[in-house]
Amino acid sequence: MFESLSDRLGKIFEGLRGRGALNATDVDNAMREIRRALIEADVSLEVVRAFVEQVKERAVGAEVTRSVTPGQQVVKIVHDELVAVLGDTASPIDLNARAPVTLLMVGLQGSGKTTTTAKIAKRLSEKNKKKVLLASLDTRRPAAMEQLRVLGEQVGVDTLPIVSTETPVEIARRAEREGRLGGYDVLILDTAGRTHIDEELMAETVAIKDIANPHEILLVVDALTGQDAINVARSFDGRLDITGIVLTRVDGDGRGGAALSMRAATGKPIKLIGVGEKMDALEDFHPSRIADRILGMGDIVSLVEKAAEHVSAEDAQKMAKKLKKGSFDLDDLRNQLLQMKKMGGMGGLMSMMPGVGQMKKAMANSNIDEKMFDRQIAIINSMTKKERAEPELLNASRRKRIAAGAGVEVSEINKLAKQHRQMADMMKKVGKGGMGALGGMFGG
Ligand code: GDP
Ligand code: MG
Repeated sequence: MFESLSDRLGKIFEGLRGRGALNATDVDNAMREIRRALIEADVSLEVVRAFVEQVKERAVGAEVTRSVTPGQQVVKIVHDELVAVLGDTASPIDLNARAPVTLLMVGLQGSGKTTTTAKIAKRLSEKNKKKVLLASLDTRRPAAMEQLRVLGEQVGVDTLPIVSTETPVEIARRAEREGRLGGYDVLILDTAGRTHIDEELMAETVAIKDIANPHEILLVVDALTGQDAINVARSFDGRLDITGIVLTRVDGDGRGGAALSMRAATGKPIKLIGVGEKMDALEDFHPSRIADRILGMGDIVSLVEKAAEHVSAEDAQKMAKKLKKGSFDLDDLRNQLLQMKKMGGMGGLMSMMPGVGQMKKAMANSNIDEKMFDRQIAIINSMTKKERAEPELLNASRRKRIAAGAGVEVSEINKLAKQHRQMADMMKKVGKGGMGALGGMFGG
């Protein structure tokens, strides 16, 4: 089973709650896990090394907020640092230049240049109401020019007529002229790639750059490139001084490590991500979302905020005790249901809680949803105090009485009883196995 970094850190810091600041040993242990998580996310080794050093500096001696666990605190520090490296905000394509604003698409063969060219064209023409001209400079593969023409047609954007005898530089010149005379706002030049970096490709692309004088040079990189992404980004940036990166096939890579490597190596922003083969599968790059992917975590910060807002310290203490003892009765279930209702149900709170994936699944399997909260609370209200404390008392005749009282079918009582049993089991496991994630929630 995939264990997220947040879960792992929760384990490391288990039992350390209540300590004022993070000490060097705790942080060292946490850093081992962070290093592993980053490598698993395919972040390049040298970037991992530098990044871990940075985080360590910030983490040692950091105050642990009372309401969160040290594990959560470290995850937050790592998250913030990731966002700092990835860039704090989205950076859109810059069209602030004299028309036609030229965008040059570069990258290895198969990285998604032609597809991305058409996707960007579609977006600029539909959303930004720009008049866009596309030109393929890929003279190496005759099919490549045709591919761009077809995609252009599909997204309703003009392509430069194909003249099969021209060199890439000649096409670039003609495209610029056509863009200017044709009153285009934006000209996007799609180039040929290679299966790997070679000098001929670089020289050709540099020559195109000199002629086309592009306002943006976008390096297109496949997210699945993994460890090699850093070399690709360095080579292209070294020769061309790129202005941004487009990461494609993010739909196929849930980890996003390539983004971190390339950004750290070049300092150039990730501008867009490709999330599918369709022409509208293009999104702005949000550093914080990729940081979350790399960490594989829920939104800990908002979890902690929400928890502090809604769960009183007393309730939390009581719940923590119950969890430790493994006794979770129907009164507790009722309190849980009331709290969940207040916090906006499963969708809201539960989805933000790291480490409760299992519990969440069990609940989903037993069909808890927000609309059921009220009915379930009504059922529990129809029980006697004794029944709530000792659910095993619920025999057939008692169930019938409760059903009548709550105005539901007996089958619903059965369902609730079963669900309670599952939850109690789960709670017992969580209580024993590690209070890491739940600790911040109930034990704080
Ligand atoms: P180029 O050689 O760099 O021009 O690459 P292409 O644009 O021809 O793309 C190569 C293949 O990757 C095509 O089959 C595309 O449909 C596919 N592709 C491009 N971008 C994405 C993406 O973001 N997600 C997925 N799943 N496929 C993509
Ligand atoms: Mg192509």
